[in-house]
Amino acid sequence: MTAHRDDPPAREGETTSWEAEWAAHKAVNAAERRKRGPILRCMARGFRLRCPRCGEGKVLRRFLEPNPACDCCGEDYSAIRTDDFAPWLGILVIGHVLVPLAILVETLFQPSLTAHLIIWTLVGLEMVLLFLPRAKGMALGLMWSLNLRGDEHQH
Ligand SMILES: [Zn+2]
Repeated sequence: MTAHRDDPPAREGETTSWEAEWAAHKAVNAAERRKRGPILRCMARGFRLRCPRCGEGKVLRRFLEPNPACDCCGEDYSAIRTDDFAPWLGILVIGHVLVPLAILVETLFQPSLTAHLIIWTLVGLEMVLLFLPRAKGMALGLMWSLNLRGDEHQH
């Protein structure tokens, strides 16, 4: 029962086949999202690198590699693709911390450019290594709670 572009336009008050299909999908999706609990809880669990569903199992298998399924509850995460959401979040957050710090250090101590280069390269690298996996876990938690997969077909 899929609607096509060639379907005749619906008359006033009449429901088209795609509208009925969309309403059914929304009802199923809303029920699934209610089962998954609050979005912020899922994101916080992901940020702590824990499974968004149970909060116990690991959400990442390696540095940035998602665990295909939770070791504790068995929830399947293999279909979720976060793509570059975590790096974008990392740039946004780390940039807003690093730049004011660099300006503060310049204002207070006026170190040489070489010192700036060494300090902020090392501090930035450390921040990326600490934050990026957490951002990835948080993105997975958000997408799982919203019942999204990250591909081009969300319904
Ligand atoms: Zn789990």
